[in-house]
Amino acid sequence: MGRIYLSPPDVGPLERDALLAAFDSNWITPLGPEVDAFERELAALCGAESAAALSSGTAALHLALVMNGIGPGDEVVVSDLTFVAPANAVRYVGADLRFVDAERETWNMDPDLLADLLERREAAGERLPAAVIVVDLYGQCAQLDRIAALCERHGVLLVEDAAEALGATWQGRSAGAWAELGAFSFNGNKIMTTGGGGALVGSADDMARARSLAAQARRPVLHYEHEEVGFNYRLSNLLAGLGRGQLARLGDLVARRHAVNARYREALAEVEGVSFMPWDPRGDVNGWLTVVLLDDALGVAPLDVCRALDERDIEARPAWKPMHLQPVFAGVPVEGGAVAEDLFRRGLCLPSGSVMTDADVDRVVGALLDALSVSRAAGGARG
Ligand SMILES: *Cc1c(COP(=O)(O)O)cnc(C)c1O
Repeated sequence: MGRIYLSPPDVGPLERDALLAAFDSNWITPLGPEVDAFERELAALCGAESAAALSSGTAALHLALVMNGIGPGDEVVVSDLTFVAPANAVRYVGADLRFVDAERETWNMDPDLLADLLERREAAGERLPAAVIVVDLYGQCAQLDRIAALCERHGVLLVEDAAEALGATWQGRSAGAWAELGAFSFNGNKIMTTGGGGALVGSADDMARARSLAAQARRPVLHYEHEEVGFNYRLSNLLAGLGRGQLARLGDLVARRHAVNARYREALAEVEGVSFMPWDPRGDVNGWLTVVLLDDALGVAPLDVCRALDERDIEARPAWKPMHLQPVFAGVPVEGGAVAEDLFRRGLCLPSGSVMTDADVDRVVGALLDALSVSRAAGGARG
């Protein structure tokens, strides 16, 4: 029995052929026909006008801020419950951070708290944020209709961090396509991978600019001429080939993650004290991770379960630690914060990879039930 990972890559003969085709074409560079095709296919898939293939999701978020001239003296509002990348991107450009708590319906940025903040500022005649970065957590979109409307009403740039949500939708519109700029990640643990990579999606003009900035902002002349500072952020042509193979299978990858989730739900339906991350019916999730909440009454914390599962060669993780609790962001203001803290304290991410067999899911369920009942027994003995 091998180790069961949280969210391992799912690549096969199709991706191997696509990668080797790119290799054999001799375009082993960050430019080439595979990159162009990958960008077209990705844009079409998520209903965006255009896409720019980049070296990571973090690079995409960084570029989104740079492209809009955001820097020192600006404030950027970021979801509190998230992986650290969007907050780091704000720090890269030297802007001020402010976090907004999660809500219970989607676990994403609370639109009411964002509305309060923007209205408070406007009423007081104070500076508005330069941008909002809203994260689509664990493959589920935020309440993007409300958040986009708020940003539009107040004239604030919206960036959608859809790194975890490729293939998800909200009110029928794709993740990544709700904001002026959307970011994706193709890191090895995401729903699809290029080994490492990312993309920005948006208007054709913005993507032309993103591609230029990602290639050292070199002017289109023969001699090397630069009018602004650029970055080395392009995706290599080889990896774009791999990405095309994965994109072609995205529907299957999403379907398998849903099947894994459904099997967990069925197996744990009767287990008291274990509930699932809500999936809001206004959207379709991509099923990236299956996340459960453990009731306090169980007397066991997610970290204890992770350790117990690790002993059975199963990788599980607690939910993201909120940004306002991170030492690196000490002192950064936060709107609310109690919901994110609660989800962190009780949230447990279960292995969810599309490579998992039904038997793998059953093995995780068995180990989880053991971890919960062992702790219950120990608690009973103590009491
Ligand atoms: C993975 C992730 C990123 C960063 O993507 P990389 O490609 O690893 O740089 C950004 N935001 C969120 C929410 C993520 O989960």
